[in-house]
Amino acid sequence: MEFNIALLRGDGIGPEIVDSAVEILKKTADKFGHKFNFTPYLIGGAAIDATGKPLPEETVKGCLASDSVLLGAVGGPKWDNLPGDQRPEKALLGIRAALELFTNLRPAKLYKALKDECPLRPDIVANGFDLMMVRELTGGIYFGERGRREGKYGEEAYDTECYSKMEIERIAKVAFETARKRNKNVISIDKANVLESSRLWRATVHEIAKDYPDVTCTDMLVDNAAMQLVKNPAQFDVVVTSNMFGDILSDESSQITGSIGMLPSASLGSTKRGMYEPIHGSAPDIAGQNKANPIATILSASMMLRYSFDLDKEADAIDAAVDRFLEEGYRTADLVGNTGVKPLSTTEVTEKILEFI
Ligand code: NAD
Repeated sequence: MEFNIALLRGDGIGPEIVDSAVEILKKTADKFGHKFNFTPYLIGGAAIDATGKPLPEETVKGCLASDSVLLGAVGGPKWDNLPGDQRPEKALLGIRAALELFTNLRPAKLYKALKDECPLRPDIVANGFDLMMVRELTGGIYFGERGRREGKYGEEAYDTECYSKMEIERIAKVAFETARKRNKNVISIDKANVLESSRLWRATVHEIAKDYPDVTCTDMLVDNAAMQLVKNPAQFDVVVTSNMFGDILSDESSQITGSIGMLPSASLGSTKRGMYEPIHGSAPDIAGQNKANPIATILSASMMLRYSFDLDKEADAIDAAVDRFLEEGYRTADLVGNTGVKPLSTTEVTEKILEFI
């Protein structure tokens, strides 16, 4: 199969980690008989320097014309003093809106080999965990009616949580489809004991669940979910939730893995095209030093194969190569801690993972 991939390398370590993931994608394509065409476009600070804008029109057009987008990271001290709407980070919101990406997929996996990185008690994570957070991205309280007014006690402010049935249906479908590619279990998180929007959420998720009889679906209140994530994270497979609950819980779930350089993400819309990126930023403190851990970006590329191109076997090959890399004891600078292990550089990590594919 042939696919066109737009590359948004961005700033800081962005170019190094994207180039590493491209090597892995090329090898995977060769091994499985596919062709991936890569076209780079400017974004973030690099785009500001070259064109004066963080998200040039050509970048948007190129991404819209591609089958999927791989992004490094944007931002850095050089652009920190620009006004808010001209900053590199503004480009992220712009490109997500232009591609109409309403779903954020954030896996949080604790590799057995990295158990010592986890801040949870060893007996809690004895067998690791592997969950997928499916967060609604374009609705809810972050986009609802808001304002200030005079109230009973003087000035007050309000924000409104509003979800349409359509918005809940489409995110629920993503969650069930995702579960079919994993362990066929969805936990839907809401606050239906208090919020009317959550009651519609819950009823709608149940309706969609009927179309997926092979997937188990249960509800969990958000306050309980926050506790369960630290008490027994292995109980979760796919978690689906609203924009705000997902914002908070996805950060909690990534923290309990303990390793920011390992976590990929995907943003999806109603077409197969998605945007895939590591959850970390541009790490300006180590940019250009060949020290960055490229694994989060490599795993983002693997998610692209799985979720945009339906190339599950190929994605499995990349994931297995990363597993083997860790199992054999190799580590990057962000993972060595006090172990005394000599960390591998970005290029050495890439070479090792290429060898294991
Ligand atoms: P950061 O994630 O860039 O870095 C936090 C710490 O983690 C740093 O010490 C960094 O060296 C380390 N780190 C991050 N990724 C690593 C990797 N792959 N390998 C090894 N170490 C890694 O967060 P920050 O320092 O708060 O932000 C730096 C810049 O990135 C800012 O300009 C910020 O706005 C931007 N940012 C961009 C994105 C994005 O593009 N999606 C996300 C977050 C932050």
